[in-house]
Amino acid sequence: MPDAPLIGSIEAGGTKFVCTVASGPDDVRDELRYPTTTPDETLARAIAFFQEQQATHGPLAALGIGSFGPIDCTEGSPTWGHVTSTPKPGWANTDFVARFREHFDVPIAWDTDVNAAALGEHVWGAARGLDTFVYLTVGTGIGGGGMSRGHLLHGLVHPEIGHIRPRRDPDRDPYEGCCPFHGDCLEGLASGTALNGRWGGNAADLPADHEAWDLEADYLAQGVVSLVLILSPQRVIMGGGVMKQPQVFPKLRARVRELLNGYVQSPALLEHIDGFIVPPELGDQAGMLGGVALAQQTLARE
Ligand code: ADP
Ligand code: ZN
Repeated sequence: MPDAPLIGSIEAGGTKFVCTVASGPDDVRDELRYPTTTPDETLARAIAFFQEQQATHGPLAALGIGSFGPIDCTEGSPTWGHVTSTPKPGWANTDFVARFREHFDVPIAWDTDVNAAALGEHVWGAARGLDTFVYLTVGTGIGGGGMSRGHLLHGLVHPEIGHIRPRRDPDRDPYEGCCPFHGDCLEGLASGTALNGRWGGNAADLPADHEAWDLEADYLAQGVVSLVLILSPQRVIMGGGVMKQPQVFPKLRARVRELLNGYVQSPALLEHIDGFIVPPELGDQAGMLGGVALAQQTLARE
């Protein structure tokens, strides 16, 4: 896209913010990463960054924000643009978008961090050419976004795929889960936080042949199977820190096939599952580029 508009993108995570000015993967002008602290401090840093960037690169055509949540991204809702009921201290009911409106007279696109990443993968990555797919991140928590028939997944609020409930066998896994809301939901059992809690230390240091990874693949497979059955995605993209363990992918694919047991008749599952459950093609840039894609989508609709 040679004439793609220049966007200010925010990947707003509960741990860190990544602010970028870009028009696409081949035109990233600058980036700023910093830890998420209070809303006042964190949002002011982003605003200052984009103001400086405009002085260098000229006006931004739009802003695109993919945020940790829960958020309100329901069009027409009076609290659209807010972070809503997050347990993250200080952030509940923050009117995120309004802070930017005060300083930037441009369209502002706003969605979950995972829907943003899903859109980034749709435009430039592993979901190119697909219209129904899921993007899951397995990191500090577990989150999921995606598209159905070309529309980003929205509904009553937004999907909370990380909190679906796998079966846990307490004899095999006595760990009761770390989700503050549900205990042993998928995030409670299979996030990086859960791995660290169950096994002690940092999941990144567990050896590749540790039993942790079979259990991890089993829980993630249960999640993926539910998604296959409910949404019928053409592909499932799996990112986040935990998926940097390459041995998890083959275990996960094998377990998904075992659990489906041949019931869902598609060559994607029966013969080509290596291409069905895949890492993000944009890698760690999915979220950041997702913000760019969100904003460009909003501009294209105006
Ligand atoms: P975030 O979810 O905060 O955006 P990450 O996706 O990097 O960030 O996830 C961080 C979590 O993933 C931590 O719980 C960490 O223990 C785990 N993690 C990070 N890297 C690895 C790795 N190489 N192998 C296994 N777990 C990892
Ligand atoms: Zn939960």
